[in-house]
Amino acid sequence: MNFDQLGLADSLLRAVRGEGYETATPIQQQAIPPVLAGRDLMGCAQTGTGKTAAFALPTLHRLSTIAGPAPSNQSAAPPMRHTKGRGRDSFSRAERRPIRSLILAPTRELAAQIGESFKTYGQFTGLRYAVVFGGVGQGPQVKALQNGVDILVATPGRLIDLMEQGHINLRNVEILILDEADQMLDMGFIVPLRRIVAAVPKQRQTLMFSATMPPEIRKLASEWLREPVHVQIVPVATPAELVEHSVFHVEQQNKPQLLVHYLQTTAQTRTLVFARTKHGADKVVKHLERAGIRAAALHGNKSQSVRQRTLDAFKSNRPPVLVATDIAARGLDVDGVSHVINYELPDVAEVYVHRIGRTGRAGATGIATSFCGRHERDQLRQIERLTRCSINVEQEHPEYKREAASDHRPTGGRRPQRRPGGGNVGSGEPRSSGGGRAKSSRPVKKATYATVAVGGSGQVTRRRRRPGGAKKRAL
Ligand code: AMP
Repeated sequence: MNFDQLGLADSLLRAVRGEGYETATPIQQQAIPPVLAGRDLMGCAQTGTGKTAAFALPTLHRLSTIAGPAPSNQSAAPPMRHTKGRGRDSFSRAERRPIRSLILAPTRELAAQIGESFKTYGQFTGLRYAVVFGGVGQGPQVKALQNGVDILVATPGRLIDLMEQGHINLRNVEILILDEADQMLDMGFIVPLRRIVAAVPKQRQTLMFSATMPPEIRKLASEWLREPVHVQIVPVATPAELVEHSVFHVEQQNKPQLLVHYLQTTAQTRTLVFARTKHGADKVVKHLERAGIRAAALHGNKSQSVRQRTLDAFKSNRPPVLVATDIAARGLDVDGVSHVINYELPDVAEVYVHRIGRTGRAGATGIATSFCGRHERDQLRQIERLTRCSINVEQEHPEYKREAASDHRPTGGRRPQRRPGGGNVGSGEPRSSGGGRAKSSRPVKKATYATVAVGGSGQVTRRRRRPGGAKKRAL
């Protein structure tokens, strides 16, 4: 379906054309018409599906075509931009131009990304936006707010701070959007969220997006949304979009060596490694650097400017291996992530789906590999339960032989089988490069691998087994 069939204003169609979008994605086709009609919406979809445009475009349309509290100001408004404070009468400007749409996002990076999308899609509307998040000085954000904005993108913590200081008034919000609602709950934002929603008029349009639908989200949706339209996007995986998924069973203390070996012997373009803790992520980076592998950490203890620089480096043509906590599991829209490595399995199975969704985006192929320690087998089983995929052990890894067969209980039931010919790059299995093991590696015990196929946006769709142990694709 083309965008011009959706009933969007010309100013938005112009921006969409400028972005080179030809057809609306499924979530855009399903969400834009009801949101334009003023309906509430509950969207179950992940990033990478075009979800931001699905809520930003109809929001911009409504704000630019329905008169707000200060219509005279809007007609004279300069083009969409990030506002900067401009002097003495800024308070009255903010009063004349109140916030009409509030978008809440769990992380600073996602908030910034959403702000960029509003800037792009709204460039010809004359509407103004601002983004507020923690980790940076509040001065410029306060100035922007005082100047008056139509659209505010915020993380919950900084928003509450600024509300408490009297810098933000949500009395005129017409459209409230909660993006990645499940992650906001996982991050403990429920109390701030309740306070924020209580500060927004009851008479409003509410859009809520969540990658998963646990009972808490359903409950909040029933409280905050009114007769919502439900849109669920289950990504359809075609063979070209599949992500190869593998797991190594490995002793915890051998994970650093396995990681070094894996990275040194696997062809990758952009690799994201997930660690459980900030400290753990820093340790992994140090270990990789000692082994001569360029690496950088991304987690909440880093200042926002360092986080931004690290992300920019990761997006560059010579990316370091990025070792991140779950701050990076969702929302980040980085093209060309060839490998995601779960150095530690997440406690919450849903997080696993988000992590591996960082690869295999936009139709590209990807490899998702997990290092499963003895103490993480329960988590692996929970992941299998959630994804309804049993991870069958296909063979022992040639490099890291299992020692005690009784120790590994294959979660999928099939006994490990040895496949002749050794491993291949695309399998997530270290390839023997000139027969050499990583310089720093000592043997890692009990490593086996298994494969399932995962849909393009992280949604596990079906298990794929290569008949006869056929070679997997190398990236
Ligand atoms: P999102 O799910 O909002 O993070 O979007 C993922 C990526 O898809 C972003 O880089 C968007 O620019 C891009 N995108 C969104 N809508 C479309 C579309 N209709 N056609 C092509 N690309 C799109």
